[in-house]
Amino acid sequence: MSTEAQATRKYEPLSKPIYTAAQLVERMKEIADVAIVLSPFAGISEIPQGWRISERHVYAQVAEGDDGKGGRTLIGDLYKPFWAKGDTCAPTKLFILRIWMAAGGSILWSRRVDDRKDSRFVEWDAMLELRQLDTNVVKFPGNKRLDLREAADHNLTGDQLRQARKRITELAESEAILRGVRGVLALAQSYSIADLKSKPFVLYQAVPDYDMDDPIIKRMVAATQLGVVDRMFGPASPTPLLGTPQAAPLQITNGRGNGDQQTAVVNGELVNTQTGQVMEDASGFEPPPAQAQEPTIVCTCPCGDQMVVGPENARVSVAAVGTPRCPTCWPWNAKYDVKRHAELKNMEMPKIPTLTGEGAAVQHQAFLDAQKRKVAAGGAR
Ligand SMILES: [Zn+2]
Repeated sequence: MSTEAQATRKYEPLSKPIYTAAQLVERMKEIADVAIVLSPFAGISEIPQGWRISERHVYAQVAEGDDGKGGRTLIGDLYKPFWAKGDTCAPTKLFILRIWMAAGGSILWSRRVDDRKDSRFVEWDAMLELRQLDTNVVKFPGNKRLDLREAADHNLTGDQLRQARKRITELAESEAILRGVRGVLALAQSYSIADLKSKPFVLYQAVPDYDMDDPIIKRMVAATQLGVVDRMFGPASPTPLLGTPQAAPLQITNGRGNGDQQTAVVNGELVNTQTGQVMEDASGFEPPPAQAQEPTIVCTCPCGDQMVVGPENARVSVAAVGTPRCPTCWPWNAKYDVKRHAELKNMEMPKIPTLTGEGAAVQHQAFLDAQKRKVAAGGAR
């Protein structure tokens, strides 16, 4: 992409934390034209003591690829369903889950609730949980019934029906979860492709504002990040299915589709039987494109940059600091963004639990100095 003078303003990640409702409102106004702000909350009058608001952003990977029929189609985090008009597209299931993680949402439980007498009928309930900006934790239900019995009205051909039945529990579960997430975050069914190329989705999360100068708090933060909190303070709430960004790296895998996709209309809804994507109100259909097969690992940095981390970087960063980081959030790297992390009170690296943004800047400088010395030594030889 060219860097020539652009008339349009770009989204700039927030470099400092938000402490008051007025700051939050101001910030949301400021980025209204350059980001897609998702907020499930009508308003907030006050941010409680001991908390701050963290802004997180997620860019959709917008790319084109082979549609398997000699044409071009959208791939990555977006797809073009048959009902999407003009320059619009829909976020994939995996992308919606990434957005849910960025909002700090978790999945408390997810289970089958029918009587299990017929493997061709599944009803699924899921319970989602999200900490609102007023710091209250709120639960949201999601439900999906899938009826693939002979007498059911599902418009499936024999082969489609066989495929859908094989994955009936998975389809019911993913749609139960997605329905909850879409509802809570007020996600639209489709977005303009041009918008998604330039604008990230922005979400806000209430996070504890630790006083890292207090030795007791310092120890508790370290314990939480190392996952030893249960042993120290007794069991906490049930472990979320997908974890929170701080607790575990987000790892979501796609179905095993390898170009040989199956699409089926189930209960009047179009379902990709490989990826489990459901598009509402299908009356005719066109299959969504194949997805990448690598698990998606997302940077957990508290700066809110939820970039996808490559497998090698993920391996190295998890081994070294206990959580995956992208290059711009990795102090021991020339690409590290000092400004974006400057005011963070904690870098949320479990193996270096007390590292602050300031400390990371020092580490980064030391890294750069060491690089320079290496080059100089190499030159002197
Ligand atoms: Zn970062």
